[in-house]
Amino acid sequence: MTAPERLERFQNYIGGAFVDAPDGRTFGSLDPYAGEPWATVPEGTVEDVDHAVAAARTALDGEWGAMTGFQRAALMRRLADLIGENAERLARVEVRDNGKLYREMIGQLQGLGAWYHYFAGHADKIEGRVIPTDKPQFFLYTRREPVGVVGAITPWNSPLLLMTWKLAPALAAGCTFVVKPSEHSPASTLAFAQVLHEAGFPAGVFNVVAGSGRELGAALAGHPGVDKIAFTGSTATGRAVAHAAAENLNRVTLELGGKSPQVVLEDADLEAAANGIIADVFAATGQTCMAGSRVVVHESVHDELVRLVAERANAIKLGDPNDPETEMGPVANPPQYEKVLGYLDKAKAEGAVAACGGGADDELGGLFVRPTLFTGVTADSTVVREEVFGPVTAALTFRTEEEALKIANDTPYGLAGSVWTRDVQRAHRVAAKLRAGTVWINAYRVVGPYAPFGGFGASGLGRENGADALQEYTEVKSIWVELSGATRDPFKLG
Ligand code: NAD
Repeated sequence: MTAPERLERFQNYIGGAFVDAPDGRTFGSLDPYAGEPWATVPEGTVEDVDHAVAAARTALDGEWGAMTGFQRAALMRRLADLIGENAERLARVEVRDNGKLYREMIGQLQGLGAWYHYFAGHADKIEGRVIPTDKPQFFLYTRREPVGVVGAITPWNSPLLLMTWKLAPALAAGCTFVVKPSEHSPASTLAFAQVLHEAGFPAGVFNVVAGSGRELGAALAGHPGVDKIAFTGSTATGRAVAHAAAENLNRVTLELGGKSPQVVLEDADLEAAANGIIADVFAATGQTCMAGSRVVVHESVHDELVRLVAERANAIKLGDPNDPETEMGPVANPPQYEKVLGYLDKAKAEGAVAACGGGADDELGGLFVRPTLFTGVTADSTVVREEVFGPVTAALTFRTEEEALKIANDTPYGLAGSVWTRDVQRAHRVAAKLRAGTVWINAYRVVGPYAPFGGFGASGLGRENGADALQEYTEVKSIWVELSGATRDPFKLG
């Protein structure tokens, strides 16, 4: 066990200052590979949330609110460059907090600055419109104004990337921001605050309140001083957050869970499809919202595809997330590990057959689960219906394109999906009919700051990324200007 004095120490960031919890209380952040805490994090309180929201309001009404889009863009570009310079440290912090591979996290962190550069490009181009009117004595124009104080709540799987999908458009729009990271992986957001501080943003523009309990998230989601909530996490929590936001009639974006289908048509390049299945559900130990956790495959190629996936999955190297040779790290935390094992047991009890994996990795122990592909499932199997959020997928077969679409769309979720085929007409036809916010053709797990991302149905509300994201952080104001100076009939609607 690491001695308490050897643990790395993080502080909350409120109103431009790094602070401990009011009573000095901390909690340990667990390294899931080492199986012990590696850092101490402040046990923030609901009063800390109040202070952070107040600081964000003050910044909005003060120096930050007075800045032009050009000034905001310059600060965002500086932040982007500093993220690049600090990518290695931030990636190491994320690996220690959630056990994801260093080679994945360093890529994410080296690419993170691109989001701030992309949205900096928008910050100085937020334009209103001049609107023609049938009233010649009036000039009518619109302004796009910041929504105000944003409350962000993030999950543990990719804390900085998923926060950035909210923060970059919020800063571009001129909003201020209070984020509550997951209690399972709070350290990287606190380390990010150190980088943002160095970039020179005015105090209160960005605030982080970490704490061990979920009540901080509830306090932020229902806070009367917040104007918009941006949430990523499970569908169940998303519902609670939406209720809280509705009480205050607040705007809300929700990026929730998924049960995304990988549709493999009979003319697909099966080697490529198998590689795509590995990428979509075994990379990141399957702990991604967009995980392709249902394989919908033509019956004529089912056996061959299963053989290819199982062969590659059995060769996946599990181990230390910092080792460049490792391909899959542990599950990120003990409750999630128990949840994944529970789904594996339930699948087997319901008659599913594991073509590969099917349980914990007995040799490695710890929180390691073998990459698993189930066959012998039906449309009603639990592993087909519910999000596992682990390295687990299941194959269902079809005979016709129509049947493939019916199976693929038979889910309350609608986050992502893919279609694997060599036929360009079928590819576009099937992509158009999949009910999902993102569809890849002959590819999987590709994102960019310019590509809108979000879900249909139970996968969420609104979109992150791309120009569409700016709409989520701005309000439109119409301004009527009387030009004639004439006195009008006060009892008539103009
Ligand atoms: P979670 O819903 O348990 O927690 C998410 C966040 O909400 C955490 O910060 C948590 O502390 C907070 N929270 C918990 N209860 C709350 C409440 N009552 N009010 C407000 N906040 C509360 O999710 P998780 O386990 O951290 O993450 C896994 C889930 O996130 C999966 O379902 C996954 O699909 C989803 N996810 C979605 C996306 C996406 O972009 N769509 C990305 C990553 C993860």
